[in-house]
Amino acid sequence: MQAAGAAIRLLQGKGGGGTETKGLTRDEVLAWLKEEEDWKLSFLWEEADRVRREQVGDEVHLRGLIEMSSFCRRDCHYCGIRGSRKIERYRMSEEEVMECVRIAQRLEYGTVVLQSGEDHGLTSDFITHLVRRIKSETPLAVTLALGERSLEELAAWREAGADRYLLKHETSDPELFRRIHPDCSTEVSDRIALLKAAKEMGYEAGSGVMVGIPGQTYESLADDIMLFRDLDLEMIGCGPFVPHPDTPLGQMTNDESRMTNVRAQVPATDTMTTKVVALTRLLCPDANIPSTTALATINRERGREMGLERGANVWMPNLTQPRYRALYEIYPGKAKVIDTAEEFQKNLLATLERIGRVPGKGPGGRLPRVNLEARNPNDD
Ligand code: SF4
Repeated sequence: MQAAGAAIRLLQGKGGGGTETKGLTRDEVLAWLKEEEDWKLSFLWEEADRVRREQVGDEVHLRGLIEMSSFCRRDCHYCGIRGSRKIERYRMSEEEVMECVRIAQRLEYGTVVLQSGEDHGLTSDFITHLVRRIKSETPLAVTLALGERSLEELAAWREAGADRYLLKHETSDPELFRRIHPDCSTEVSDRIALLKAAKEMGYEAGSGVMVGIPGQTYESLADDIMLFRDLDLEMIGCGPFVPHPDTPLGQMTNDESRMTNVRAQVPATDTMTTKVVALTRLLCPDANIPSTTALATINRERGREMGLERGANVWMPNLTQPRYRALYEIYPGKAKVIDTAEEFQKNLLATLERIGRVPGKGPGGRLPRVNLEARNPNDD
């Protein structure tokens, strides 16, 4: 079964010979990002799927997403709930969040993801109490995705029992990051430092990038993928860049928004996004990698499955009450799905069955490294 692994190297002119794909170099990653021949890419898809099966199995972990608040103090140039937009906003009560948590439990998900804009109206005490309640009343793992919060808050929530912290760094190119994500007054964002601090506190840390940000080059995207490996992240989510039309980036014409010449600009396509998913699986074999909603939004027919077939092993069904979901429209099309969680679950299970996968059991954290390293490499 190392044929595809060898081909990964061979096709990039490196000779192959059973070399570990985890050791792909930045130049090789870059070459794969630029690869456009379908027959060559089929080796990449095959190898990513093989490594996924071998390292994390056929289970697809279900993380119930709860969008707790659409308030945000930031003003990212692509985001539909950026703070300066005059839109109707909401913040769930503890009981409303717990309603969603109980749905996750009923549907036998392993994790709830408490997500919001960067909303300091969700106070440290509110989150602490909520985390304690979920951990004491359910067996669910708790992932927090609440933006750039203070180290004191992260520590208090970890102490309360939160398992994971998710903070996408969006791009490792500092200039590009600043262009799309303005700092809040004098506070300078350093998401990488916050992720490292979260790991030191004992969180499983998750991050990710957008693929096809205007001005994003192949070189910077290759750097993003190498950074995933260097940070040793437990979760890595990559979706295509989809700007909301009522934002500065959404209102630019294609030519204006590219900011680089056309050949240098990474396209925000399903194929490019799944190249990033596949390469991430090869470089971070045991990470939990979602097939993202943004990917399923730009390819409604096959996006979710493409992700799962090219390296992903996580699905994050949205458990937010439908009346709030429409108000959490980060990008267009995302909130169009108005199924209840139960209706959505039927489609989810049918999709998993169709592609030969099974819903995960339990919290679905990263497997203990010792088991992986004890494997006999000749087992392949
Ligand atoms: S991307 Fe996140 S931090 Fe930025 S404006 Fe949107 S919700 Fe706020």
